[in-house]
Amino acid sequence: MDNYIVSARKYRPMTFNSVVGQRSLTTTLKNAIASGKLAHAYLFCGPRGVGKTTCARIFAKTINCLTPTADGEACNQCESCVAFNEQRSFNIHELDAASNNSVDDIRSLIEQVRIPPQIGKYKVYIIDEVHMLSQAAFNAFLKTLEEPPHHAIFILATTEKHKILPTILSRCQIYDFSRITIKDTVEHLQYVATQENVKTEPEALNVLAQKADGGMRDALSIFDQVVSFTGGNVTYKAVIENLNVLDYEYYFRLTDCILTNNVVEGLLILNEILSKGFDGNNVITGIASHFRDLLLCKDLKTAELFEVGASIRERYIETAKRCSNEFLYKAIELVNESDLNYRYSRNKRLLSDLTIIRLCQLSSPQAGSEDQKKKQVIDPIFSKQEVSAQPTATKPSTQPASPPDNQQRKAPVIQKEPVTNQPQISGTPNVTPKVGGMGVSISAFGQKKEETAKAEITIEVLNDRFTPLQLINEWKAYAESLIEEHHLKNTMLNCLPNLLENTVFEVIVNNPVQEQRLQDSAMDILSKLRVQLRNTHLRMEIRISENNEKKLAFTPAEKFNLMMEENESLRRLKDEFGLELS
Ligand SMILES: [Zn+2]
Repeated sequence: MDNYIVSARKYRPMTFNSVVGQRSLTTTLKNAIASGKLAHAYLFCGPRGVGKTTCARIFAKTINCLTPTADGEACNQCESCVAFNEQRSFNIHELDAASNNSVDDIRSLIEQVRIPPQIGKYKVYIIDEVHMLSQAAFNAFLKTLEEPPHHAIFILATTEKHKILPTILSRCQIYDFSRITIKDTVEHLQYVATQENVKTEPEALNVLAQKADGGMRDALSIFDQVVSFTGGNVTYKAVIENLNVLDYEYYFRLTDCILTNNVVEGLLILNEILSKGFDGNNVITGIASHFRDLLLCKDLKTAELFEVGASIRERYIETAKRCSNEFLYKAIELVNESDLNYRYSRNKRLLSDLTIIRLCQLSSPQAGSEDQKKKQVIDPIFSKQEVSAQPTATKPSTQPASPPDNQQRKAPVIQKEPVTNQPQISGTPNVTPKVGGMGVSISAFGQKKEETAKAEITIEVLNDRFTPLQLINEWKAYAESLIEEHHLKNTMLNCLPNLLENTVFEVIVNNPVQEQRLQDSAMDILSKLRVQLRNTHLRMEIRISENNEKKLAFTPAEKFNLMMEENESLRRLKDEFGLELS
């Protein structure tokens, strides 16, 4: 294959009209050329491989064409065009700033700028990756950019517009190149495939386009790679194998399991995917976008947004019909939550499994009463006498509401001798189960139902995982919900919780007043957070900041004092000159 040319070069557009996916931009450039209103400097910005350099070259060729066509394109036949196409034109200079970014490189370019063109009207200087120029090179270049000779046109290209100095930006006409849509990419790949006699499947090209992420150069080089790998038969199977993309077939199979509450099969499929070397997080995000695609396909209008081949779109639409909107919302929310938690999870495999299990449960018959499943009924602990004998609810504790374990439950708390109604604190306090955290006071509960010999206490034991961000968000939400208690609200908003372990978080306050405030409301705050985060073991620790002695400087005098503390010579300066802050 001596004469093998990569597709990206072979099919590099020769005219504005053949540039893919930048229609409005090329039209503007053509109009500027046709009306003769040319700027001296252009800045082409946009992601890599979307046609910046290509457009710059076509632009250079077109403005030098001796006989442009009626619709403003280069003729590709005149002496100038031929020279351009054979890459021997003296009217175009390309500088790759990524490798030639020194002052000397720019100086030698500036030297050339003075020499007028021999054929054609303009000399075009293309500076690629212009953001890579050194500061000194930028400065040297600025002068030329301010007063260029009338035959010189600069086209600066960059992927990182924000790195360009404002002085340069203000002297350029700026063109923003956008990513090429999947549809445009697929069409172009199809065109190239037809020219090259390569057999393709629409889904295959679609995966290629998605992988290229809006860059045509990448799309074409992946295409070349797959063509050589498959010997000219670009099938969907070959593409996903070559690009290590997870087959959408898996997502459809998983969706089937989830819709039919088939946990076992779902876990088996997940295992199969993971055993192929795919990352759990990729699978989770993959499921998320699969459900999102299904949601789009619920409506034929939004199905248009869905950039895939027609045959696969039908399949999505069919599957979407089997899912209710509510199911999809819940599923997306659930998967998104898992995605957020993935990074923090210590047992990532478990999280992946759990995600599948919970997704399957969405379609189980009791899905609506999910809370019911997590309730645990704890046997009655006290007879009515003991109840009255227990010390009444202690002051609010910030300790965790650990559910009484079996041992505690069966502990001998029975006191045989009849007791009066007076509290008998000397009883057996060490077996008093703490359930204060759930806001259930056993003694109070028991007293109310004195006539019931067996008091049943239902305690919800929740142990959902949550992220530090979720904690902070719920914390803030609670603070915002406080209407009357401004002080508490401000304290909570100023001192955000910091998750220490799985269920223990710390709040660092600035002074004892804030500490007291939080202590006083600890029960309310914790009860709310426990419910919102679905975790009964949540515990709060409050600590006064160690550097609370450090006063914050507000007034100029305070600021100056602070500065003097850090810099002794300032004090001497003040003393020696007898300076006073006004
Ligand atoms: Zn021409």
